[in-house]
Amino acid sequence: MGDQKALGLGESILRLDEHPISEYFGCNTFNDAVARTRLSHSTYHSLKSMSAGGGALTPEMAQEIATAIKDWAMEQGATHFTHWFLPMTGVTAEKHDAFIFWDKNNPGSVIEMLSGSQLIQGEPDASSFPSGGLRATFEARGYTAWDPSSPVFIMGGPSGKTLCIPTAFVGYHGEALDHKVPLLHSMEFLSKASLDALKFFKHSAQRVVSVCGAEQEYFAVDLDLAQQRPDLMFANRTLQGARPPKGQELEDHYFGSIKDRVLGFMQDLELEALKLGIPVKTRHNEVAPNQFELAPIFEQANLASDHNQLLMELMKAIGERHGLAILLHEKPFAGINGSGKHCNWSLATDQGQNLLDPGKTPEQNLQFIYFLTATIKAIHRHGGLLRAAIASAANDHRLGANEAPPAIMSIFLGAQLSQVLNIFERGESKGTAGKGILSFGIPNLPNLEKDATDRNRTSPFAFTGNRFEFRAVGSSQPIAFPLMIINTAVAEALHELNHQVKQDEAQSGDILVSIIKVVQKTLSDTKSIRFEGNGYSDEWKQEAAQRGLPQAEDTVAALKIWEEPQVQSLFVNGGIFSTQELEARLHIRHEQYQKALNIEAQVLREMTETLLIPSILSDIGDKSQSIKYAMDAGQSTLTKESPIGQMIGRQVNLLNQAQSEVMKLRELLGRAENQSDMHARTEIFGRQVRPAMDQLRYTLDELEELTDATYWPIPKYRELLAPLS
Ligand code: ADP
Ligand code: MG
Repeated sequence: MGDQKALGLGESILRLDEHPISEYFGCNTFNDAVARTRLSHSTYHSLKSMSAGGGALTPEMAQEIATAIKDWAMEQGATHFTHWFLPMTGVTAEKHDAFIFWDKNNPGSVIEMLSGSQLIQGEPDASSFPSGGLRATFEARGYTAWDPSSPVFIMGGPSGKTLCIPTAFVGYHGEALDHKVPLLHSMEFLSKASLDALKFFKHSAQRVVSVCGAEQEYFAVDLDLAQQRPDLMFANRTLQGARPPKGQELEDHYFGSIKDRVLGFMQDLELEALKLGIPVKTRHNEVAPNQFELAPIFEQANLASDHNQLLMELMKAIGERHGLAILLHEKPFAGINGSGKHCNWSLATDQGQNLLDPGKTPEQNLQFIYFLTATIKAIHRHGGLLRAAIASAANDHRLGANEAPPAIMSIFLGAQLSQVLNIFERGESKGTAGKGILSFGIPNLPNLEKDATDRNRTSPFAFTGNRFEFRAVGSSQPIAFPLMIINTAVAEALHELNHQVKQDEAQSGDILVSIIKVVQKTLSDTKSIRFEGNGYSDEWKQEAAQRGLPQAEDTVAALKIWEEPQVQSLFVNGGIFSTQELEARLHIRHEQYQKALNIEAQVLREMTETLLIPSILSDIGDKSQSIKYAMDAGQSTLTKESPIGQMIGRQVNLLNQAQSEVMKLRELLGRAENQSDMHARTEIFGRQVRPAMDQLRYTLDELEELTDATYWPIPKYRELLAPLS
């Protein structure tokens, strides 16, 4: 941690290379080092233990912390504060308040203040955040509650700064109204189950946390061009666009050198992110033209979630400064790779041990296999839910669409680890290579090479040496939600395994024997979820069906999984959601799906009716005029049957077709609007509106290729995807 006094304010650092990163990392946050210097010894320690999930603050301590934070924030130039939270829209919410209060001693004057209760609890008038019916708007009170495990930070604006206090958002009766509360609950559930398991191995850990490193993919396109496209502005993706002459066929963009304009954006973004304590580390070009990736170092899951949310906001804002529109949508361009967010997930003890790291001793290896088996069991039981967790209108364009992870959840372990598990399951003592794998019945693992585990890019949930990589998460999605599902499912699995081991031990009298027995049985029971082959192939679809793995081909199908009994019991027993909270989440997911498709369909309809059809008509008019002139001038070869005549005929036919398709779309939207049943409306949007949009788009794309480019009223793919120089 650097000396911020010496450096002054975070804003005085204007370039990434002005100082070593270690000197300014986190300088815009009230981090541990600042807290230590500005708080009394006892308050600092209370805050620390509270951040780690224990203890509470007295009102006096809360006031001391609030004043220290306010003083620090004002020194950095902040005038306002906001509780910063992640409602179920998935987009962070803020409501800013100035620090000012009337000065009792000086009528008409104000003083700056932040009270302990303002720090700890807020009451945004949040009636219009989605609550899925949990809160009728007439009792719209929702509370934001400070989350001390995530440091407060300062965000700059064009002419002022705001202190942001990360908070959880709960309803009047404590119902979770955001993504953070369930994530924190799931971490608690997982920590308990893991600690129970660790006791078998005489491990002295006090706490286990789930950690995540989220690799964020995105597109960057020229902002001026993007602003000319209503679809990009309102639906975040192109709803029409003929393929460019050169797409990603050459794959010359992947890991290529980064062009200056984009590099400048990345460097500014990283500078601001680093000042906010976001440990951004890796940047590179992705496969598609103008597609890039940014990855931070992994962190505790709730911090990783806050940071990813913050990063997505920063990306858009800083992109604009560089004249770039940053597209976080899962599929901005048809026919070009989409964007995901690989969530690298593992478990770490408070002593810093990664529980998914194969150990050095046989006992450590057994412990590793125990946690690995629990994860396999979790995905085996809740693969469908994991699929449902990342289902959205946008992610439907990726999943199962032959480029990104398939929509069928399976686990990839790599040949080496698979072999070890198979041998372990059978209780054999030697692998095919003749190496001793089990000694005295407990595993003696060979060194697992990362290379040996990281070959299969077609798996949605792959073991990569010391963690799992969940690759199906969409680029724009909050990671809190899928992380919560993984944590909860693994906690449930651990809980069951722990229970079985204890029961068995009562008979066997030997904990190791019981652990081995339970793991062997679990490995054998959960085999169907393990798959080492090509996840994109049609054979896999058939095989997965034979194995009985759930296959939800789109969001409409995936949403049904939420209503299955094992999902209910998972969340209710894990203390994550009540039945009502779960029902509310389901409502919100239906609503968001319907809204997303409704916006897309309305934008496409309007674009077609008011921009594209009129332009195509003008073009046809012009062409017809030219032909008439030519014919008048004696060019009698220009008949209806001539190639030119046929080309115009085709354009006219397609235009008629587009017009009737847009009318069909209108009719379907009306039908959806009149449907009051939630499930039926989702079905209309997914199974009727969506195909109708695809059909119209297909016609328009063909028309684009027949229409005079100077008449085309919106920027084309070839312009949007041209190298950014
Ligand atoms: P790759 O592209 O090969 O997957 P990257 O370096 O782009 O690798 O991203 C890997 C991500 O995984 C980084 O965010 C990294 O911090 C994270 N990571 C590394 N080890 C762990 C771990 N034990 N648990 C969770 N995440 C991890
Ligand atoms: Mg990766």
